[in-house]
Amino acid sequence: MTDHFVRISYLLAAGLFVLSLKWMSAPQTSRRGVLAGEAGMLLAIVGTLVRHEVVDYQWILVAFVLGSAIGVPLAYLMPMTAVPQRTAISHAFGALAAALIGTAEYYRHTPSTFVMTALITETLLGFVTFTGSLMAFGKLQEILPTRPIVYKGQNVVNLSILAGAVMIGVYLIFNPTQLWLYPIFAGMALLFGVLLIVPIGGADMPTVIALLNSYAGLSACAMGFALDNKLLIIAGALDGSSGFILSIIMCRAMNRSFTNVLFGAFGQVQASAADARKKLVRSALAEEAAEILDSSRLVIVVPGYGLAVAQAQHKLRELFDVLTKRGVDVRFAIHPVAGRMPGHMNVLLAEADIPYDKLFEMDEINGEFTQADVALVIGANDVTNPGARHDKSSPIYGMPILNTDHARTVMVIKRSMNPGFAGIDNELYYMDKTLMLFGDAKAFLSSVVKELAAVKAG
Ligand code: NAP
Repeated sequence: MTDHFVRISYLLAAGLFVLSLKWMSAPQTSRRGVLAGEAGMLLAIVGTLVRHEVVDYQWILVAFVLGSAIGVPLAYLMPMTAVPQRTAISHAFGALAAALIGTAEYYRHTPSTFVMTALITETLLGFVTFTGSLMAFGKLQEILPTRPIVYKGQNVVNLSILAGAVMIGVYLIFNPTQLWLYPIFAGMALLFGVLLIVPIGGADMPTVIALLNSYAGLSACAMGFALDNKLLIIAGALDGSSGFILSIIMCRAMNRSFTNVLFGAFGQVQASAADARKKLVRSALAEEAAEILDSSRLVIVVPGYGLAVAQAQHKLRELFDVLTKRGVDVRFAIHPVAGRMPGHMNVLLAEADIPYDKLFEMDEINGEFTQADVALVIGANDVTNPGARHDKSSPIYGMPILNTDHARTVMVIKRSMNPGFAGIDNELYYMDKTLMLFGDAKAFLSSVVKELAAVKAG
């Protein structure tokens, strides 16, 4: 009877995990996706708890209280802009759990060669992901230096440590009784996790996190084989493959390769960016910006990382309401890598209840900029840089961009002429049709909304 219940709950959980991933891929269904994932996880936990292998519920209760004491504050206290580091730390916990379970299984009994293969894979990936994710968290939270730390012969050192860990692991698979070797294997895997992330710049961490997510999933999948738990195999495989696909999508959207992300030391300000600051730009105040917006028919808003930093989404919603009421068609153009994590802008705009049907993916809206009176760029930079189309020396050469330069007028809200994530200057700012609106996004939008209200009153 119990076995029957476990099997059914696992089957339902697996189905819910698949549906959850499917639903989470579109903003309209993403909330349902989160709920399906949560329901699936609840079923999986209940199913596991009623299995007859559970010998003591006391420790499970302790773990439950401890996990909740860490998880609940993490969920509620960390701001939206800190989601990448929150993801990194939760991967670190997940990977540590997988590695510790693998370690306990190894010491509990002498496993067969098959189980040992699964255990070594699980613990190697688990330990690497644990320290790698902690380093990613440290860099994103700026507890550790965010710049890439590089030295001569680094790749040789790193690969030698990985090769050493793999060799010891393979030896252990066939000689599992050599218990003394296991701590050396685990130590090398932990060290490799640190060394893997050290040379990567803080700005590239979101892509690295997606990759680490994939490792954590594969580790859980291997754990499923070691524990003979089919749901873990399914959930781990889904996690591993979705993380991998996500990192590929992110690399593609940035027109970068994996090797460039892992070894490219991206995100350092280039000399040309500093030189370019001497060129002239046209700037305007909120009053002029409000007048131009008021007389427009179609305004395409391009949100970027700065919108999230300024937490200006609610002010943007106010601007949307004011302009829509005055008969202006306001749409939002979402670049796949705008912000610092996949879906960053969708989540931000959804938080301010901006209607989903006003959000357009890059491919859907790029042809519409020619008809737009204004492209209003708010805290976005790289995703609008026309240099990506033709400047072969640019680090973002080949990255698809939003065609803001095709609009009649371009208005850019940002605080200074400082570059964005890629550390390069943006040609868009020097075009005759571009007006720079210098200021914090929230403060500037607030002034524009006030000006529009004044026009209405007057
Ligand atoms: P961006 O190129 O990094 O530019 C953000 C701009 O926001 C900056 O130029 C900054 O200029 C401005 N800003 C910052 N704080 C602001 C504030 N309080 N008010 C107004 N403006 C503010 O951002 P993006 O155009 O969104 O492009 C994203 C970049 O991140 C791309 O290069 C992408 O490849 C990369 N990336 C994205 C992901 C992802 O998954 N989304 C992952 C990894 C990397 P000031 O300092 O002058 O204000």
